[in-house]
Amino acid sequence: MALACGFVIAMAFLVSGCGSSEAPAPPEDDPEAPPVAVIGWDGATWDVIEPMLLDGRLPHLAALIDGGTRARLLAEPPLLSPVAWTTLATGFTEEEHGIAGFNMPDPTGKGSPILAASFHRRRAALWQMVSAAPEREVGFIGWWTTWPAEPVRGYVVTDHLAFNRWDAWARRPENEAFHLTYPAELTDELSAVAVRPEQTGAETLTRLVAFNEREQQEMMAATRPVIFHGPSVFRFGYSTDASNLAFARHLLDTREQPDLFAVSFILTDVAGHVFWHHYRPEAYADPPADAGRLAEAIPDIYEQVDRWTGELLARLEPDTRVLLISDHGMRSTGQRPVPGRNPAGDHDPAGIFVASGPGLRRGAELHSLSSLDFTPTVLALLGLPVADDMPGRVVHELFEDPGLWNGARIPSYGDGRDGKVEMVESPADEAYRDRLKALGYIGE
Ligand SMILES: [Zn+2]
Repeated sequence: MALACGFVIAMAFLVSGCGSSEAPAPPEDDPEAPPVAVIGWDGATWDVIEPMLLDGRLPHLAALIDGGTRARLLAEPPLLSPVAWTTLATGFTEEEHGIAGFNMPDPTGKGSPILAASFHRRRAALWQMVSAAPEREVGFIGWWTTWPAEPVRGYVVTDHLAFNRWDAWARRPENEAFHLTYPAELTDELSAVAVRPEQTGAETLTRLVAFNEREQQEMMAATRPVIFHGPSVFRFGYSTDASNLAFARHLLDTREQPDLFAVSFILTDVAGHVFWHHYRPEAYADPPADAGRLAEAIPDIYEQVDRWTGELLARLEPDTRVLLISDHGMRSTGQRPVPGRNPAGDHDPAGIFVASGPGLRRGAELHSLSSLDFTPTVLALLGLPVADDMPGRVVHELFEDPGLWNGARIPSYGDGRDGKVEMVESPADEAYRDRLKALGYIGE
């Protein structure tokens, strides 16, 4: 394998680079820090959650709030999921991390754009920062723009192992079947527990959303999700989340919990886009005739995601610090929804944030934090250094004792490029890698 640095060296200096003159010192480690788990509810908003908390319908989220601190998490623009989740994972804005939207240039130079991928990113991500510390492990599942999987200590299950609805809407790069997971052996192991769209019957789906006869037929007849079309998008989105939950269960049941574990669910976002006119019909000047018929769809889906969250929480070590976040919030578009054209709901900057666990303040509420503060705060919780070049800050108001953060700093975690040399695994991949390299997407 023609690697610029050997495997062991690449792992040890994943972030700091091999022989780079600007290589930062390896991070200091505080192995005593309890583990951190991040649970993502894509597009979730307090506007939906607050009345549900009063009705006792989100018991797992309520328990985290009672035992921790809540806040609004304000997303940096643009409010697009691949951008927002990358900002949360890098601590940098779109201008710096380079993931500018759903579509990004095709690294093979063949012209039309492709769905944003990890090789478009130009800043180290949390899975690389943590892997660079001695003895620390990560486990990321279903996080946006993690494909192709980058080498880490631990595992990455990319956003393309589970069914990804964006595959139907954006052009995929060549060699799309490679690097669905790191390590690669996980792909077969986890594929066995994946929940494919065709495996979920109408009964399961209509238990969550009371579609009428016609919608049920459309839902089950769909061979792919149609953008902003409730029945099809919901069916395929359900399979994404059910799969990522199954991966998470399997990994937590068969392996030690990593120091930083993360999994994200997307149905809260899907539901907001396609059911908001049912949830809040009064927000539309010209609502469809049946607006309000599926009024319970959004709350019922939040309830389901809360149950899935409970399944994860039950498997985590008791001393885990849990961060539950959304990448952005959701609001009415005020425009009549039209499948293929207009959503009923769209993104709002105000997302959700809850932090709960040992050493964190209980029953507290902060006004808001920036999505740029997330990466430094996670690093501080793990006892790892925060980088001087990160624009965000450690949100120390979350800590019972400000001394919880050891104050360690390094100049920068760099661009994370060195980790990408491990992409090559077969001759076919090698040709692809050469093209990526020629175009500057990956390092030597
Ligand atoms: Zn969305």
